Amino acid sequence: EITAAPNFIRNMIVQQREAGQQQKVVTRFPPEPNGFLHVGHAKSICLNFGIAQEFGGDCHLRFDDTNPEKENQTYIDAIQEDVQWLGFQWAGKVRYASDYFEQLYQWAVHLIREGKAYVCELNAEQMREYRGTLTEPGKNSPFRERSVEENLAEFEAMRAGTYPDGAKVLRAKIDMSAPNINLRDPILYRIRHAHHHQTGNQWCIYPSYDFTHGQSDAIEGITHSICTLEFEDHRPLYEWFLNNLPVPCKPVQTEFARLNLNYTVTSKRKLKLLVDEGIVEGWDDPRMPTISGMRRRGYTPKSLRDFCDMIGVTRSGGVVDINMLYFALRNDLEHSARRAMVVLNPIKVVITNWEAGRVENLTSPSHPAREDLGERTLPFTRELYIDRDDFMEEPPKKYFRLAPGQEVRLRNAWVIRCDEVIKDASGEIIELRCSHDPDTLGKNPEGRKVKGVIHWVSAEHGIPAEVRLYDNLFQVEAPDADKDVDFLQHLNPESLSVVQAVCEPSLASAEPEDKFQFERVGYFCADRREHQPGSKLVFNRTVGLKDSWAK
Ligand code: ATP
Ligand code: MG
Ligand code: MG
Repeated sequence: EITAAPNFIRNMIVQQREAGQQQKVVTRFPPEPNGFLHVGHAKSICLNFGIAQEFGGDCHLRFDDTNPEKENQTYIDAIQEDVQWLGFQWAGKVRYASDYFEQLYQWAVHLIREGKAYVCELNAEQMREYRGTLTEPGKNSPFRERSVEENLAEFEAMRAGTYPDGAKVLRAKIDMSAPNINLRDPILYRIRHAHHHQTGNQWCIYPSYDFTHGQSDAIEGITHSICTLEFEDHRPLYEWFLNNLPVPCKPVQTEFARLNLNYTVTSKRKLKLLVDEGIVEGWDDPRMPTISGMRRRGYTPKSLRDFCDMIGVTRSGGVVDINMLYFALRNDLEHSARRAMVVLNPIKVVITNWEAGRVENLTSPSHPAREDLGERTLPFTRELYIDRDDFMEEPPKKYFRLAPGQEVRLRNAWVIRCDEVIKDASGEIIELRCSHDPDTLGKNPEGRKVKGVIHWVSAEHGIPAEVRLYDNLFQVEAPDADKDVDFLQHLNPESLSVVQAVCEPSLASAEPEDKFQFERVGYFCADRREHQPGSKLVFNRTVGLKDSWAK
């Protein structure tokens, strides 16, 4: 039932090919390794890799690594793992913009020789002042008319480490009165005496994003350079570099609307803050909208790819309802997750007309529609657990679960009736004494209707598990909408609660990342990091069974 929404970039390529215009399609996914990937990046990954797949082309993975201080190998490794987990493989080796630093340097020298770049010594504040505003043109820098020879010597000295950080920059000489501020002599190189994760101490000047991106695309033979709408205003600059440098080809930039999800922040900077402040347990905390967090929460790669198909690709942004994501998730898990009975909030039931020591090994399919998933054994014994929420001492009308004198069916087993309620000295219910009707296994009871069905686990054979119940990390739909309010104000204090549950015995052999529907409760996933089959069971709630999240 997943229907793909329109994708204008894909449609554009179909048209280009129909018109015989397009050679092999080459795209790239260009993350900066300054954080983990989030659900927004998943959209870009599905788009770039999806297009390459569909048209028999290539998609490159290229790290846009021009800010050494913010980047590191941990992020590089995590990003590669996430892309592969989503089901994609880049063509050829992993690429780095830093692979092209020497070529970029030579192209900067080329611009200087052509009189199209100069070394500027305005400080940051002066630079801002000279740049002008949206309504006011900028002013030329006093360094703008330096000779080619002087610029060449200065730029070489910058590279040689003669100057401290921030002392000088290399700028393109374009137009200080251009209506598009990006064209007002943008910075090409800045001085940063910083160790780089790829190039070590080889460089103390680093190219700007704008001076790096398009030329890297050109070096790699990218045909379609797809990016988010914030870069629309950079496109004239992207093209200016390609038109003013001897590049091997001219990629075309196309922008699309970034993904925004309600109840979610998708900014690496803010996600990093959540990690650094210890608000979550790490980048892959199951409450994080990172790909690795979602993986740990129990998302499947297919559910994320389906979601990206459902939201489509357009040029106008909006906010996507997180329920669409949950829909894609449930849709996949309904089909793929094995069923299990788990009691989250146990209360003991004693079947008084069942002999102590008698064990009946009942069986049930692991999935109602998938014989290939086999079946599981459900031992039935005199003492069982049911969920406290499935019993009411004074039930309202139409309460079909267990109550004094009332019958209910134990799922996959018999009908029982509650005969007696046992309380402790404080009045708390500690046990329910029930009797079973032996003539109700797999058939309706004689002469009466029993509507309710509840889940249960044998007290003797059940296995304890830690179950982590996750909810949205933020309480409001748009946690970072208001620039004047700290988004941390909107954290949901109940985004995690932990309960000790009792599981049916088949769960003892669950492997990390195995996914289940806990019948009547929700979808759960064995924790990727802490779950240990047979010894320490830890399950994460992925999502509820129904749209109970819609607020
Ligand atoms: P952030 O704003 O979270 O720091 P970014 O855009 O700076 O993200 P990059 O590492 O530069 O992060 O992103 C790599 C690619 O993913 C870019 O092409 C970018 O446009 C795309 N991307 C990032 N966020 C989103 C989003 N929310 N929706 C769609 N694509 C996105
Ligand atoms: Mg970026
Ligand atoms: Mg960023």
